[in-house]
Amino acid sequence: MKCEVLTLFPGIVSAAVTDSILKRAAEKGLVEIKVTDLRDFAHDRHRTADDYPFGGGPGMVMKPEPLFEAVEKIKAEGEPLKVILMSPQGTVFSHAKALELSKETRKLVFICGRYEGIDDRVRQALVDEEISLGDFVLSGGEIAAAAVIEAAARLIPGALGADESAENDSFYDGLLDYPHYTRPAVFRDIAVPDVLLSGNHEEIRRWRRKEALKATLRRRPELLEKVELSAEDKKFLKEIESEMWEG
Ligand code: SAH
Repeated sequence: MKCEVLTLFPGIVSAAVTDSILKRAAEKGLVEIKVTDLRDFAHDRHRTADDYPFGGGPGMVMKPEPLFEAVEKIKAEGEPLKVILMSPQGTVFSHAKALELSKETRKLVFICGRYEGIDDRVRQALVDEEISLGDFVLSGGEIAAAAVIEAAARLIPGALGADESAENDSFYDGLLDYPHYTRPAVFRDIAVPDVLLSGNHEEIRRWRRKEALKATLRRRPELLEKVELSAEDKKFLKEIESEMWEG
């Protein structure tokens, strides 16, 4: 996965994408992340990248020239690109989108807005896709772009170590993850479920599957409508439902 992030705050993105897992994935050659300071494409000696909005009103707007020139410079390198704008008006990010991006062969160019946002001509002329982190407004696209890159990169086969595989994580198979415990076996009078100490791998597998179904049914029941459930899953769900009535 090849990415380039265009931002007025390169430090925020760099700090977020040079953590252990992304760093290792980069060393293995699985991801390549470049962070580009849009002020390098400003035209005056103050390196101005924003200006007052036409029509008046509060706040500043990111000027179109630096963004156009930055994207044109990347285009001139000759690789096919997909230009993604981080925006609260975009499609809400999800595991499915992370998986799609993890397989993308085009270079991904992320545009991070600031202030009131970017001059809309950038969106009209350059942007292939708009991604939102959720229905809230951040002050900039940097953390959102870093979150998207991290979520996608960890799904690239080999990016995570064998002991930290993504397969059991929430959403991977359409369900939420099961609960995790580590030592001590009893902590402040709360004991780890016996089955996890039993050494019986089949029992542990069954417990974990049932707990994943339970977590999903309780917290995100709508996810269950989209999962293909096995006969065992259906049996577990029946048990969970009758346990819920009893409890
Ligand atoms: N006035 C704009 C918000 C500007 S916030 C509006 O209401 O639509 C400044 C920048 O932060 C945006 O350009 C975008 O890049 C980023 N941003 C804010 N909220 C975001 C979100 N939920 N997801 C992704 N990016 C976001």
